Amino acid sequence: MTESILSNEAPIRLGFFFGILALMALWELAAPRRRLTVSKSLRWINNLVLVFLNSLVLRLVFPVAALGVAALAQERGWGLLNALALPAWLKVVAAVLLLDLLIYGQHVAMHLAPPLWRLHRMHHADLDIDVTTGARFHPIEIVLSMAIKMGAVVALGVAPLAVLIFEVVLNVTAMFNHANVRLPGALDGVLRLFVVTPDMHRVHHSIEPAETNSNYGFNQPWWDRLFGTYRAQPAAGHDGMTIGISLFRAPRFLHLHMLLAQPFLSGAAAGGGGPREAAGAEESGDETR
Ligand SMILES: [Zn+2]
Repeated sequence: MTESILSNEAPIRLGFFFGILALMALWELAAPRRRLTVSKSLRWINNLVLVFLNSLVLRLVFPVAALGVAALAQERGWGLLNALALPAWLKVVAAVLLLDLLIYGQHVAMHLAPPLWRLHRMHHADLDIDVTTGARFHPIEIVLSMAIKMGAVVALGVAPLAVLIFEVVLNVTAMFNHANVRLPGALDGVLRLFVVTPDMHRVHHSIEPAETNSNYGFNQPWWDRLFGTYRAQPAAGHDGMTIGISLFRAPRFLHLHMLLAQPFLSGAAAGGGGPREAAGAEESGDETR
């Protein structure tokens, strides 16, 4: 069973990615949460080209990736979980939870450490948030994340099946919680006890720094509640809130080469100084529409 799942890794990943992408895209058309403010086709092309580019870069930098090092760790008996005598299913559950906690911690670090924020801010600079935002990351951040994950997989002794489950689930939940979809409030309230919902994650994409620095979870919502970073709703409401960050709001940042340049740009080149000036420019200039 495990063997056949792992030998069909590529079709499983692609199937979930395109399946959920199509499903969320249709849901966004049928019941959108917010009106989009910039060209959807331009954003979609950029964000999807980034997905392709990132897979290519990962393949070139890491020929074996997380699944490969998991197989090696299992074979050699490396890592915490490989040393413990626990049922296999329990190790899978523990590994998925531990990796999710790691991603939460990594995400917090991405926001707090200025050099890391330079890499991560391209994800936040998207002026609208929808299903493709969930896959919009700078290639350098993707390489760094993979290196950290591979280290964790070896240290924790995560089994290959757990790595695949974790990666596919994270991919699915990230596309779900970035989607511009409307869910009945009661349903959202119940769902967000178990998974990060679109309304919960949208708060994290607010231009307000206090809101950007909350709701770091991508999958399980419990870490935010446990570590005090949970924020239920945006202060301005989901319709009134501004998506993005104070930098990179000029139309030239809608182009792919400018997205890739973002980690290397200074505040001045990015079209704003501190959050204060940028907020002022936002009210008067409104150059994004
Ligand atoms: Zn973030």
